[in-house]
Amino acid sequence: MVRDLSEFPIQYIKGVGPQRARLLNRLEIRTAEDAIYYLPYRYEDRRNIKKITNLRYGQIETAIGKVISAEVIRLPKGNLKIFELTVSDGSGLLKGKWFNQAFMKKNFKIGQEVVLSGVVKRNPYWGIGFEIDNPEYEFVSDDGDAFIHTSRIVPVYRTTGGLSARQLRSIMFGVLNACIEHVYDPIPQDILVRNNLHGLKESILNSHFPEVETDIAILNRGISDYQRRLSFDELFMLELGLAVLKRGKSVEKGISFDAKGILVNRLLERLPFRLTAAQGRVFGEILYDMKKPYPMNRLIQGDVGCGKTIVALMAMLVAVECGYQSALMAPTEILAEQHYINIHRMVEDLGLKICLLTGSRKDRPFEDIAAGKTDIVVGTHALIQEGINFKNLGLVIIDEQHRFGVMQRALLRKKAVNPDVLVMTATPIPRTLAMTLYGDLDYSIIDELPPGRNPVITCLFSPRQKDYIYRAIADEAKKGRQVYVVYPVIEESEKSNLKSAIIGTEALEKIFPSLKIALIHGRMKPQEREAVMTSFKGGDIDILVSTTVIEVGVDIPNASMMLIVHAERFGLAQLHQLRGRVGRGSNQSHCFLLAYEPCGEEARRRLDIMVRSNDGFRIAEEDLDIRGPGEFLGTRQSGMPDLKAANIIRDSRLLEVARREAFGIIEKDPELKGFPGLRKSLERFWGGKLELFKTS
Ligand code: ADP
Ligand code: MG
Repeated sequence: MVRDLSEFPIQYIKGVGPQRARLLNRLEIRTAEDAIYYLPYRYEDRRNIKKITNLRYGQIETAIGKVISAEVIRLPKGNLKIFELTVSDGSGLLKGKWFNQAFMKKNFKIGQEVVLSGVVKRNPYWGIGFEIDNPEYEFVSDDGDAFIHTSRIVPVYRTTGGLSARQLRSIMFGVLNACIEHVYDPIPQDILVRNNLHGLKESILNSHFPEVETDIAILNRGISDYQRRLSFDELFMLELGLAVLKRGKSVEKGISFDAKGILVNRLLERLPFRLTAAQGRVFGEILYDMKKPYPMNRLIQGDVGCGKTIVALMAMLVAVECGYQSALMAPTEILAEQHYINIHRMVEDLGLKICLLTGSRKDRPFEDIAAGKTDIVVGTHALIQEGINFKNLGLVIIDEQHRFGVMQRALLRKKAVNPDVLVMTATPIPRTLAMTLYGDLDYSIIDELPPGRNPVITCLFSPRQKDYIYRAIADEAKKGRQVYVVYPVIEESEKSNLKSAIIGTEALEKIFPSLKIALIHGRMKPQEREAVMTSFKGGDIDILVSTTVIEVGVDIPNASMMLIVHAERFGLAQLHQLRGRVGRGSNQSHCFLLAYEPCGEEARRRLDIMVRSNDGFRIAEEDLDIRGPGEFLGTRQSGMPDLKAANIIRDSRLLEVARREAFGIIEKDPELKGFPGLRKSLERFWGGKLELFKTS
């Protein structure tokens, strides 16, 4: 009956039907295949359920008992309501507590048998008894498939209103029974053998309903041998797609830039500093790529302030010397404006033409670009919009790559015939991760800061210590240095209750009547913003109040102090980027983090690491740990397929294996002609995003 599981509607599986199918759709389960790969998010050990009296404190435990009371308790202070459920199994009592969820009461009846699980604790007042806060719960009933739900390791799936954990488990069991025989394994046999990987069918079954002797801790970490097989498949498909993308580019004919280096040398003569060894090495790698008759696709990674811009400019000059145009794309208008302000004089001094192109500028230099009169174009996404045509774009540079996805890169490349592409990022990420996120790119790293930089001193303050901060700002200004004050929002709003940049500016004007204070934010007109940035750069402004618009790339060496208001509200990567705006000159710089209460544990961790470390890699690792890989990498935005089974951090070794196998197969058979099934699975996995693959 069931043939292609990816096209078999879930509704027609026995025991589902239209009503449940609608609920399953909410979980993004539409086909039998979706269901098969809808994996449990945890497992519960119900092999031999403990007596309540034998539960251990501090452990995740599961117990079964009959409801003996279910009531809502009101605490005298505040209006906190607690729903308290008490169950008994004859050996002892177990309480479940749900905070501010009085409605839970209607779910339970006295005498019903329920399974409760969660971390067991003592009663906070009496120091005795067994309690679980917000336990997972499930009713025990004998509907004929009790063997699925008890006396075994039980899978727990994320579910949705109207579908109980138990119902969903029964459905999953049914789907597997009906479909497992029709599962098609696209991975070549020799790869499985070489890497000791289990068969697909047994791996799927065991990932849902594990064999009885499996180690539950290993299962819950997602690293049983069977789970690894499913993780491998995802990572393999991911890497296979990246291999296809990379291969597609490397066989294309590109421009061979063979410059003498006249412009670059003239630029270097004029620079007030010498390149660092790392800048020199990376520029060498770029030159080597540019000379080759294939399109360059290189990622430059380097912590904030390491000097990526000048390296980018040198690459652009190489292209220009060979008679081509270059484009530099930045993620925000402010950053594009900054790049323009910073480099246009150097570029014009060399006798070249440069222009700025952003969405909100009126004076759009379209014609000059199309006619090839402009050598270098600096801009935002506006660069990739329709109607912008270059005469002969040869080099494309994308700054702060983490803000752009694979797709946007592809669009910009289309503005030219196979241009060389350089992407730059200041988000330091571990190597294996970089391989995945930018797996279709070559990779260079500027791992050295220009000499004479002092690490920024970072301190954490509470609002009570504001006076100290104000004094420090006044002293800094007296020395002729400049200060950033960053707010999380432009305007106050009823909802957020946060200090805002507008109100903050007014307050600062009162506190520092003799200082020049200016405000900059994303809603201003670009001309106004440019004017503010230019006069801040020129030293006419003492304190620049802003929102996170200055987060990336802004470079003013004389600014040596930053105050971040509501620092508890910012993400770690953001804080590090913001702080990177100071510490760019030779003066000792300071960053003050002003945190308001209450701030949660995660926020504390973020602030803590900021105070302790200036090292972008350390901070990125911590960030990864706090946020998890999905959010850290922003895979959604980047156009990468989602991973369900695999976890790039946890499975980094497996990722390397998958990468080696995937790149190996594409090298031998670039279009997968000998693997039609694999090719089909690959296209499905990438959801039509492997454009190059389609045209080949
Ligand atoms: P980022 O890598 O964060 O984009 P920038 O390119 O903005 O860093 O450079 C930061 C600052 O360091 C700029 O003021 C730039 O002129 C300066 N700089 C770059 N390279 C060097 C160098 N080799 N020696 C001294 N200063 C440098
Ligand atoms: Mg930069």
